[in-house]
Amino acid sequence: MAEKMRAMVLTKLAPIETRPLKLMSIDRPVAKGRNELMIEIEACGVCRSNLHLIEGDWKRFGAPSHLPVVPGHEVVGVVKQVGSGVKKIKVGDRVGIQPLFSSCLQCEYCTTGKENLCESAEITGETVQGGYAEYISALEEFVTPIPDNLDSEHAAPLFCPGITAYKAVKASEPAAGRTVGIFGIGGVGHLAIQIAKMQGARVIAMSRAKKHLDLSKKLGADNVIVYQDSQGQFLKNLKKEEGGLLDSAIVFAPSDKVIDTAIKSVKKGGTIVLGVLGNVSDFPTFEEKIVKGSVIGTMKDMAELVSLASSSGLKVVIETHKLEEANEVLARLKKSQVEARAVLVP
Ligand SMILES: [Zn+2]
Ligand SMILES: [Zn+2]
Repeated sequence: MAEKMRAMVLTKLAPIETRPLKLMSIDRPVAKGRNELMIEIEACGVCRSNLHLIEGDWKRFGAPSHLPVVPGHEVVGVVKQVGSGVKKIKVGDRVGIQPLFSSCLQCEYCTTGKENLCESAEITGETVQGGYAEYISALEEFVTPIPDNLDSEHAAPLFCPGITAYKAVKASEPAAGRTVGIFGIGGVGHLAIQIAKMQGARVIAMSRAKKHLDLSKKLGADNVIVYQDSQGQFLKNLKKEEGGLLDSAIVFAPSDKVIDTAIKSVKKGGTIVLGVLGNVSDFPTFEEKIVKGSVIGTMKDMAELVSLASSSGLKVVIETHKLEEANEVLARLKKSQVEARAVLVP
């Protein structure tokens, strides 16, 4: 008989207030496949996309692919078992798993270092079991070892908000002498500020909330500007404060209006990176601006970020909760009551 573990299981898509995640005892995974690992989870971040999945907002994207499912896709734990063909990872290693659980390794994306775009990708906590549990399985090629100086609770968010921030910042081409604006300062934005600073850019944080702007300053933002619904007034404030428009902008606030404002906040020929879903209306063709989408990141990005976090003192702001509290934590996230990143500890 299989050994059991505790997990917060989603059996039915429903509003989070109805507590759709149930604490259950389910079979513990085993490392059956040649390149498979079995990991004892030490921390799993709570993501807004988990909330969308649970409430059924992502049915149109085919997620989750099946029910019941265990959500959670920013996971750190200790390897307890390895398959017969595993070479790089050994029992006792601490590793992290990102939303990209696996990809085919053969298609045109996988063979050109863009495996995050693979059509056959499996997504942690959506198409395969995720991290709201005591144990998880993973594949050797898709885990990233964690250096000793990063604890598991702070390392877990590197695997979704961290990688999302890292890839989006990279796409915004930060450099000394360039000004990057970051719209939306939460779990992802607070990391993006620090990563863009490390690349030498001047970083401007935009948010409606004063507490987020205060946090941005603490984390090294060179300037902060209150986001407001009056686009004209916002742009006037930006120009006055910065003496002109931005070289690039990154959007982490899921709002068409914010995307439009971000596009208008950059100079002609500038770049706008979208790290969220949203629509571009009124695109200024004759200003030669570039709008780029960005989704999670590749295994190479992941390794770069973990090494950067280990060497640079990247500050990941977290609060920890028990696994059993997942429903309550997600309900607070829905009401924007979570400061930076909530992490579940089994
Ligand atoms: Zn996430
Ligand atoms: Zn592929």
